[in-house]
Amino acid sequence: MTTVRVVVGGAVCERGRLLAARRSAPPALAGRWELPGGKVEDGETPEQALVRELHEELGVDVAPVERIPGEWVLRPGFVLQVWTARLVSGRPEPLQDHDELRWLRPGEEREVDWLDQDRPAVAEVMRRLGSR
Ligand code: C5P
Repeated sequence: MTTVRVVVGGAVCERGRLLAARRSAPPALAGRWELPGGKVEDGETPEQALVRELHEELGVDVAPVERIPGEWVLRPGFVLQVWTARLVSGRPEPLQDHDELRWLRPGEEREVDWLDQDRPAVAEVMRRLGSR
């Protein structure tokens, strides 16, 4: 049996806007935008990994809210799962892996060049934000 590693992405939403992060590395991905997150480590739940990654990368504490249905292949052996999350404390700063952050309202997601695999989840989150 092959094990599939899960990468979690966080759709952090506040006041009707979604947090987008621009990758600074690796070179092949630098400049592309993503939902911040990273790999689930052994012994972690995806929600725990999300809290850890967003603390490391952005210096904030978040609370996962709910999973966006679906998962998306990053490359063989890796899938992306996405949770919505709310900020519990801190203001996000690009401490690690990113060099710019933006809070995007529904419609503004078209202004940035998302990683392909993040696009379906971003569209779903924006649909939800727009219909509130
Ligand atoms: O952030 P980290 O390097 O741990 O991410 C692991 C892999 O997951 C990278 O290849 C990255 O491109 C991918 N990823 C993604 N979408 C995200 C977060 C990470 O495709 N929202």
